Amino acid sequence: MNSINADLHCHSLISDGTLSPEEVAHRAHANGVQIWSLTDHDILEGQARAQRAAIDLGMTYIPGVEISVSWCDQTIHIVGLGIDADHVGILEGLRRTREGRGNRAQLMAEQLAKVGISGAYEGALHFAGNHQLISRTHFARFLVEQGVCKDTEHVFKNYLVEDKPGYVPHMWATLDDAVAWIKAAGGVAVIAHPGRYSRLNAMQMDELYKHFKDIGGVAIEVITGSHSPDQYQTYTKVAQQYGFLASRGSDFHDPHESHIDLGNLPQLPDHLTPVWSVFH
Ligand code: AMP
Ligand code: MN
Ligand code: MN
Ligand code: MN
Repeated sequence: MNSINADLHCHSLISDGTLSPEEVAHRAHANGVQIWSLTDHDILEGQARAQRAAIDLGMTYIPGVEISVSWCDQTIHIVGLGIDADHVGILEGLRRTREGRGNRAQLMAEQLAKVGISGAYEGALHFAGNHQLISRTHFARFLVEQGVCKDTEHVFKNYLVEDKPGYVPHMWATLDDAVAWIKAAGGVAVIAHPGRYSRLNAMQMDELYKHFKDIGGVAIEVITGSHSPDQYQTYTKVAQQYGFLASRGSDFHDPHESHIDLGNLPQLPDHLTPVWSVFH
């Protein structure tokens, strides 16, 4: 079961990816993915299309989402897998989570204007496949297009992050709400790329795992495009220590930007139980 090529985290242009749900499905299939989930940020609009394309290609489809959450004044991401994409509770929760993005984007653009980068709001909007989901990724693409940065990685070191121009703190969903929406919609909650939360200290991470578990969270991402090989080991140990199922996903956004392509990741270690065992 651990050797199945599962990719349970990626994005389409319904959020901040650049390919349509159908194009992502075809690319996943061409790369050998057998179990696939499209997990756009804070929105379920692409789910029906992704599911149809996956079934046509003979892949197992798991409806998914990646929810933006505020925890200890930091942003973390919670993936929901196996949700009912028509469930009213999660649809309403995600609608509220998305709501502040337009205003945040205006404030980000105002900050960038102060350091001499004008037209960022319109510029970012131009890259957004879905205006409800205007995100830092779209600003990053605009800054690359303008020649301010050579690539998006450079952007996320020098702009749009804490203490840098274009950073606007934002209140996303609470952890309890996000997990409750996922559970109410029949899904399982997964902590996305725990290795990315470098601003949370060890005590806060411990509290996150324990609280997440207490409220019914079941898995963490171990093998993800956001982790280094060292981190694969670190989070293998975390999964064992806290009794989490393990997930695997590329976090693919774009053929040129993403260093890890769909399905192109190491297998989950044999002694971990994959989150996809829940769906079989
Ligand atoms: P937002 O939800 O608007 O805050 O945007 C978050 C998105 O920005 C993430 O989903 C990633 O796609 C992208 N992002 C954040 N940090 C980085 C990073 N260090 N490198 C590349 N992309 C990043
Ligand atoms: Mn993203
Ligand atoms: Mn994420
Ligand atoms: Mn993601």
